[in-house]
Amino acid sequence: MNSQWIKEQFPILNQEVNGHPLVYLDSAASSQKPRAVIEAIKHYYEWDNANVHRGVHTLGSRATDAYEGAREKVAKFIGAKRSEEIVFTRGTTTALNLVASSYGPTVINEGDEIVITQMEHHSNFIPWQQLALRTGATLKFIPLEQDGTVTIEAAEKTITPKTKIVAMAYVSNVMGVINPVKQIAEVAHRNGAVMVVDGAQSTPHLKVNVQDLDCDFYTISGHKMCGPTGIGVLYGKKALLSAMPPIEFGGEMIDDVGLYESTWKDAPMRFEGGTPIIAGAVGLGAAIDFLTEVGMEQIERHEKELAGYAMDRLSQIDGVSIYGPAKRQVGLVTFNLGDVHPHDVATVLDSYGVAIRAGHHCCQPLMRWLQVSSTARASLYLYNTEQDIDRLADALVQAKEYFA
Ligand code: PMP
Repeated sequence: MNSQWIKEQFPILNQEVNGHPLVYLDSAASSQKPRAVIEAIKHYYEWDNANVHRGVHTLGSRATDAYEGAREKVAKFIGAKRSEEIVFTRGTTTALNLVASSYGPTVINEGDEIVITQMEHHSNFIPWQQLALRTGATLKFIPLEQDGTVTIEAAEKTITPKTKIVAMAYVSNVMGVINPVKQIAEVAHRNGAVMVVDGAQSTPHLKVNVQDLDCDFYTISGHKMCGPTGIGVLYGKKALLSAMPPIEFGGEMIDDVGLYESTWKDAPMRFEGGTPIIAGAVGLGAAIDFLTEVGMEQIERHEKELAGYAMDRLSQIDGVSIYGPAKRQVGLVTFNLGDVHPHDVATVLDSYGVAIRAGHHCCQPLMRWLQVSSTARASLYLYNTEQDIDRLADALVQAKEYFA
């Protein structure tokens, strides 16, 4: 990877924060945007902007082509069979809530089981918890190993013929692990359950193929993969999506509206009521082009190497405790510095121009499992370099001395 060229593509990185060149290590929360994405959105608004699927005029057709073209790009990027399996949403949170609210009640009855893990982000936790509470289903957890990983053996023991839904993150936003979702999907299917994969942290960093994973639903957040905020995706197998009822009603999603009854368009349109997130989809399409040009395999390799380097540097600092397995599979390091509150650590790091995250990372059940209330987290992306990690390590040493 040509790291100089890549960094130059992200104008925001070329600035000083608190008198130091910015080192951005918070991409798991939201990634930065390359020039190509910013330009694509600007071009859309300057030349093509109109509502989609309705106007017969030229701008209307251009906007529709841009929006539907983005759907095709997403389908290809994640290896879906066809673009009708791609529903545009606001992000992973909306996508997971859509599955829980629409698909959930069609299969879940009292006494059924929903299986998740304790490492899930609240977005992949609360919708299932609330569905279980509403329906009288049992929420079950695949127990985590001591290092915070999920094994197929543990999944085999937890998933039973009563299980109707298994939901899990492909990549954890705290533990930095890649979960064996392909093998767990096989266990789910053998027991007659569907597999829902939270792809918020995997899609930006790994080459994903939903057909190979054989998951039934898969979610994406555009803003974590170089795209704009406000756009995401629910992938669903066509037969499942077509059998699901819409949960939002209004323009564009209808087939025929009568006085007392109405019918709906097929998926994905039935889930995209109202004027959709057109410019967001255009930006996501441009982000996919950008990531594809760089190469997902290269991005994955670069981040894994960098994560190894970060683990080496951070574990050499006395008092730093790192959570998750020692060998990093993705570019994310969650840690604490002695008993200093992570907000204080992040504040000192910010004064050196180093941006990291501190808090519970929307994973309170996992924090309980780790027996901490919060942690610091440095998360990497394609634009980070060894120099960024050196700056992080140096600032941490400063923080340590400051609090000592
Ligand atoms: N799942 C995981 C694993 C995440 O990291 C996040 C974002 N932090 C989400 C779900 C929620 O994504 P969004 O806020 O884009 O809806």
